[in-house]
Amino acid sequence: MSARGPLLAAVPAPRESIPPQPAAVQAGPTAADWSAAVTAVRDLPPDGSVLLICHVNPDGDALGSMLGFGLGLRRLGVRHLQATFPGAAGDRPEVPEPFQALPGLDLLVSDDRASADPDLVVCFDVAAESRLGALVDRLDRTPASVVLDHHASNTWFGQIHLVDPSAAATSVVAVQLLDRLGVPLDAEIAECLYVALATDTGSFKFDMTTPAVHELAARLLGTGIRPGEISRRVFDTRPFGAVKLYGEVLGRAELEPAAAGGVGRVWAYATLEDLRRHDQRPYVLEGLIDSVRCAAEADVSCVVKQVADDEWAVSLRSKGAVDVGRVAVALGGGGHRLAAGFTGRGSVAEVMAQIRAQLDA
Ligand code: 5GP
Ligand code: MN
Repeated sequence: MSARGPLLAAVPAPRESIPPQPAAVQAGPTAADWSAAVTAVRDLPPDGSVLLICHVNPDGDALGSMLGFGLGLRRLGVRHLQATFPGAAGDRPEVPEPFQALPGLDLLVSDDRASADPDLVVCFDVAAESRLGALVDRLDRTPASVVLDHHASNTWFGQIHLVDPSAAATSVVAVQLLDRLGVPLDAEIAECLYVALATDTGSFKFDMTTPAVHELAARLLGTGIRPGEISRRVFDTRPFGAVKLYGEVLGRAELEPAAAGGVGRVWAYATLEDLRRHDQRPYVLEGLIDSVRCAAEADVSCVVKQVADDEWAVSLRSKGAVDVGRVAVALGGGGHRLAAGFTGRGSVAEVMAQIRAQLDA
C-alpha cells in the first residue's frame, strides 16, 4: 500500500465510529464532500491503484456508473484500475446479457482477484455494506474510500460520502464527480452513464425524471451514442425461454385488492426450478416486477425470486400510496420510497407473511 497523500490523512475517522446520519444523507453532498472526493483522486500516489466496486447482482446503474467512472479514471491516466462486484468470477466475469456490450467491461476482474490493498476504493450504488459481500474488507483496509450513491437508506459506510437521494441514478453523482475532475465525456463513458440513467429512471418514466435528468441525457446523447440500439439491447431483448418463463410466472400472479390497508397488492414468485425448467439465468427475472406492477387494482407489487434453498430476493414497488422503502428496511433491506428490496428467508409463504405483517402494520 502506498503512503497517504496530504488529504487522505485528514479523512474522517474509520467508519465504525461514524453513526448513520440520515439528515446528512437527505441533504446530499456538501462542497467539502465534493472537494474531498476530487482530492482523493488527485492525490493518488504516482502509480496508485484504484478499486471500483458495486453491489451484488449488479444492475444497469451499478455497472454503468462504475464502468463509466472507471473509463474516466483511465482517461485521467490511472493505470492500476480494477472493477469488481460480489460474485464476479473467472478471467472475464460475466454480467447479465443486457449489459454484455457495455464499454469498459475489460476493467472487470473476479472478486477474489481484486487488489487487497488499493490506494483508493470507489463504491457505486451500494445502499448498505451487506450488499458488498466479502468485498467489504477492502473498505476496511484502504486509506481512502469514496461512496457514490443515491439511496435515502444509505447506511453511511466508507469515508467520503457522495450520497444524493435526489439523484435519479448513481450515474448522476458519477458524472458530477467526472466533471469536477475535468474528464471530458466521450461516447464510451456516455454509453455507460446513459444505460445507468435509463435503467434507474425506468426509461425516463419515473417521477425523478426531472428536467436535469433530460438535460444530462441530452448531453450524453450529444456524444453520438445510439439510444435506440442501446434500449433494444438493454430493455427489449430476451431469450425465448425467458418469454415462456414470464408467461408461467405471471400466470400464477395473485391479486389481493383489499390488502395493504385497502390500496391493493399484487404479487408473483419464481423458483430456481422455474429457471431450470426454462433453462434461464436469474437475471432474466430482473424485469418481472415491471410486468407485475402493471396491475391497475394494486398500489403495491411484490416479486419474490428464489436465489437459494430458503433465500429469496424480493422486489417491492409502490405507485405512491405506500412507502415500500420503509417496508424493505424493516425487513433488513433498503431502497427508495417507491422501489425497494430485501433478502427474505424461509418459504415463499413465510416471506409473503413477513411482507404482509409490515404492510399491514
Ligand atoms: P430491485 O427490486 O430492482 O432489485 O431493487 C429496487 C431497489 O431496492 C434498488 O434501489 C435496490 O438497490 C434496492 N434493493 C433491492 N434489494 C435490496 C437488498 O437486499 N438490500 C438493500 N439494502 N437494498 C436493496
Ligand atoms: Mn441506482
